[in-house]
Formats: sequence, C-alpha cells, structure tokens
Amino acid sequence: MPDAAVLEQLRVTASTCTLCPLAEGRTQVVFGVGNPTADLLFVGEGPGREEDLAGEPFVGRSGKLLDRLMWEEIGLTRAECYIANVVKCRPPNNRDPLPGEIEACRPYLEEQIALIEPAVIVTLGNFSTKLLLGSNQGIRALRGQAFERGTAQLVPTYHPAYVLRAGGEAMAEMRADLVRAKRLLAASP
Ligand code: URA
Repeated sequence: MPDAAVLEQLRVTASTCTLCPLAEGRTQVVFGVGNPTADLLFVGEGPGREEDLAGEPFVGRSGKLLDRLMWEEIGLTRAECYIANVVKCRPPNNRDPLPGEIEACRPYLEEQIALIEPAVIVTLGNFSTKLLLGSNQGIRALRGQAFERGTAQLVPTYHPAYVLRAGGEAMAEMRADLVRAKRLLAASP
C-alpha cells in the first residue's frame, strides 16, 4: 500500500484515539495537513481553540504568520508542505502538553515522519525541538543551526506565537531559519 494511503489509515485510527486524557476535552483530533509526500515538514506544539474547532493545525493567528513566512522565505504554501503537531488534541486552556501526553502521542508523529520521509523538518518552538532532537536545551540555544535526524535535516526555529509576541529580532531570526531550511531543501537529493 502506498505510504500516503497508510498515512490516511493512521489519520483514521488517530481520530478516535483515547491514549491520553486530552481525548476527553477535544472537539476533534488535529492529525496534520498538507502533502503526504512533502519534502518539508513543520512540527508545532499542539492545537489551540481554533485548530480544535477546525480540525486543522495552525489556522489561527500563529498559523497566518506561519503561512506568510513560509511563502515569503521558502516560496511554498501549506498545501505543498506538511504541518503536524507534537500532540494531536488540544490541551485545556491552551496549557503546555504534559510529558505523559507527549509520550502517548509520540508514535503518531514518528509514524508521520517515517511515512512522509521529509528531507527537512522545521520544528516550531521548544516542545517539538526538544522531542525530536532528544535535547534538554531550549530553542534559543538550538536555533540558528541544522541537525541530522535520521534521513532528514532538522531546523529548529521559534514558535510563531512567540514571534507574534516578541516581534523584531525574533521575526528576523525565524526568517533566517526558514532561509536555512530552503537551502537545505534545494541541496537535498
Ligand atoms: N500552535 C501549535 O503549536 N499548533 C497549532 O496547530 C496551532 C497553534
């Protein structure tokens, strides 16, 4: 079966997931969106209120910024990339996901990565960066460089919600990270 069909099966399986308590408060599972054979994968933290209602990652203010920066710096639309999150269900009141919730959801993300096989993974913020790099260091220390992760290059950058709050320099740094991702994409086989 083609990987895209397996990914769709996984989405259907995840849609009724009860592996962690976040299942109780969600409207729907926000599995991921985009091209199942994308070269570029973005990984955020977890759905917020708007994403929980829409069933799609990054549809709120952070998402609008992400869409704009991915277009301006990489020249891609969200339909050409794939966007996923560390946890697929909204944490109550937009609190941080808990370690147990992250671990319960991790196999879905790992399977998404294995099936999509992106050349470049851009992690947005601390949660996805620490999880996928297995690092305790924060995003400030890790951004500005690229790391090998299996067959992919991983480019850590800020979460767009942080950039919306911080503006200025953080915005410029996120743009520079996306340019790094673009160069790695161009250099990938
Ligand atoms: N923030 C995230 O990390 N993911 C989303 O899907 C929306 C906001």
